[in-house]
Amino acid sequence: MQDISSAIESLRTGLGSRLCIMGHHYESDAVVEHCDFTGDSLELARRIPSVDAEFIVFCGVSFMGESAALLAKQGQAVILPEPAADCQMARMSTAADARRVLKQIRDLGLDVLPLAYVNTDVPLKAVVGEFGGSVCTSANARTMMDWAFNAAERVLFIPDMHLGRNTARQLGIPEDEWHILELGPDGLVNPQSQPLGRKLLLWPGYCPVHAAYTPAHIEAARAAWPGCRITVHPEASPEVTALCDAAGSTSFLIKDAEARAGAGETLVVGTEVNLVRRLAKRSQGACRIVPLVDGEAAACPDMAMVTPEKLLASLQSIESGSWRQVVLSEADREPARLSLTRMLKICG
Ligand code: SF4
Repeated sequence: MQDISSAIESLRTGLGSRLCIMGHHYESDAVVEHCDFTGDSLELARRIPSVDAEFIVFCGVSFMGESAALLAKQGQAVILPEPAADCQMARMSTAADARRVLKQIRDLGLDVLPLAYVNTDVPLKAVVGEFGGSVCTSANARTMMDWAFNAAERVLFIPDMHLGRNTARQLGIPEDEWHILELGPDGLVNPQSQPLGRKLLLWPGYCPVHAAYTPAHIEAARAAWPGCRITVHPEASPEVTALCDAAGSTSFLIKDAEARAGAGETLVVGTEVNLVRRLAKRSQGACRIVPLVDGEAAACPDMAMVTPEKLLASLQSIESGSWRQVVLSEADREPARLSLTRMLKICG
C-alpha cells in the first residue's frame, strides 16, 4: 500500500498545477489522503468553477463526476477513477420516468415544479432544468424547497423521499400535504386515484445506507451510551430523525462533531461509516465518536469501489495520454447545467 501511496504522490508532484484531485467525504482514508479538496456534494460543486487545473480527478460516484463535468471550464477533463461506481439512490429515478410523471401531472391541469436531489444523473437533471426546476443538496434542501414552493403550487421531489419528508417537516408542511407516488412501468399507477393535488409529491427513492437505520438502532445507542448525543443524515427516515438530537447534511455532521472536540461526551453519528471513523480519529479521543451502525452495512459499496489502485491508474492514464474523461450528451448539457446553476445562484 505504501508503494501505491508513494506512486500516487510522485505522479501528483510531477503533474503539479495541471492536476486537481477532489474526493467526497465518504471515500476511505487511503484515498482521501491524496485529495487536494474533500467535501460533500455542495462543497465540491461550489469549488469546481474556481479550479484551473487541466485534469480534475474526482474520487466519488458517477453523478458527482458528471456534476463536475457540467461545471468545469472548456478544455478541462474530469476523470473518475472508477466510472462504474454509481449511487444506488440515483439509479432509482430515470430521466424518462421523471419526464413521463411530470407530464402526467401537468396533463391533469396541476401546477408542479421538479426539485431534484443532486444524487441524480445528468439526463434527469436535464429534465428538471427543462421543466423549470432545480437541483438541491442535503445542505440546502430547505432553502431550495422554499424557493420551489414560491415558484409553483406543488413540488415533485426526486428521488429521496426521506430527505423530502424531513425537509417538509422543517418547513412545517403537514403530513396530509405529502404524497409518496405510486409508480409502475408506465409512470403513475392509476393517476386519478392518487392524491396528486397535495403540495409535496415524493418520488419513492431512498439511500440504502441511510434508510437502513431504524428507531431500534437509536434505542440501542441510547441504552449503550446513556446521555449520548445522536446526529444523523437526513437521508434517514423521519421516524429515525425525529428520535435524534439533530439531523443535518454531511457538512453539518462534521461541524457538529468538531464543535464537540474536548467535550468528553459520546457522540453517535448516523452516516457513512468511513466518515464517522475519520471523525473519531480526528477527535483523538477527546470526544468519543461512534457510528450509529458499524461494519459493512454502514458503508456505501459504490464509494468503496474507488481505491488507491484506481486513483493511481487514473494518474498513470494522464501521464501516458490515455485518460478517459466524463463525456456528457450535448443535448442534456445546457438544461442540466441550468438546474445546477439555479441552485448555486440561489444558495450563493
Ligand atoms: S451513501 Fe447512499 S446516497 Fe450516498 S452515494 Fe452511497 S447510495 Fe448514494
